[in-house]
Amino acid sequence: MYVILTLSNAGDSSGRADLFHIAGLKKQLKEETMENKDYYIFEEKEEYPRKPQDEIDRENQQLSENLHLIINNSERIYKQEKYFYIQLSSAVIGTTTTGGRFMPLGVLLLVWEGGHLKDICPHCGGTVYITGAAGSALSGTHFWYGYCVKCKQRVTGRGSGFSRIWGPAFEMKSKYPNRRIIKRYNLKSEKWYDKLTEKRRPDEIIQDKIEGSTIEELVSFLKSVDGIADEK
Ligand SMILES: [Zn+2]
Repeated sequence: MYVILTLSNAGDSSGRADLFHIAGLKKQLKEETMENKDYYIFEEKEEYPRKPQDEIDRENQQLSENLHLIINNSERIYKQEKYFYIQLSSAVIGTTTTGGRFMPLGVLLLVWEGGHLKDICPHCGGTVYITGAAGSALSGTHFWYGYCVKCKQRVTGRGSGFSRIWGPAFEMKSKYPNRRIIKRYNLKSEKWYDKLTEKRRPDEIIQDKIEGSTIEELVSFLKSVDGIADEK
């Protein structure tokens, strides 16, 4: 079963608008917390998606072979959270000052759609869709890696003007946060020695994180609905 985002939000016919409600929720929670001493609310840190090497290799292969199919079906991916929030092991963009940010597949697709995160393949001249990059926000020098849709392989390159890469990527990423938001109760005891033995009320999850699916699952889904393999 898929989680289908409702399409009822005004002003956005693509079905993406629902993801924006999280930003509003966060603002509301922040205000709520400021007036309250019983608990505090925090967001869990994003963790690097640690995957075994054979899984990473399969992911690379799937992307090399099927990126065209994935891009052609971006509208389908925007509408299903478990596909939107697929986290590729290679999809990290970071600068020396900000550290790495994880780019869910849906965010990459939106940035590509906006004409960013692309470069020219040094092997065939085709379009490379960049999935990850790292470099200096100050000097602008960086390296990137991605997939060429024409020669169907993983490609890496170097460049200058890094803000063209991380700028649009970070901006889009900030619109689609996917972190668990947790409510943690404060201890009630006044004295420190009472606090040692007091049992804290269990945490409550206010907003859960959406667990992304895998590229393999997405590709087999797309092949089943698309009906045609990515060979044309
Ligand atoms: Zn190429």
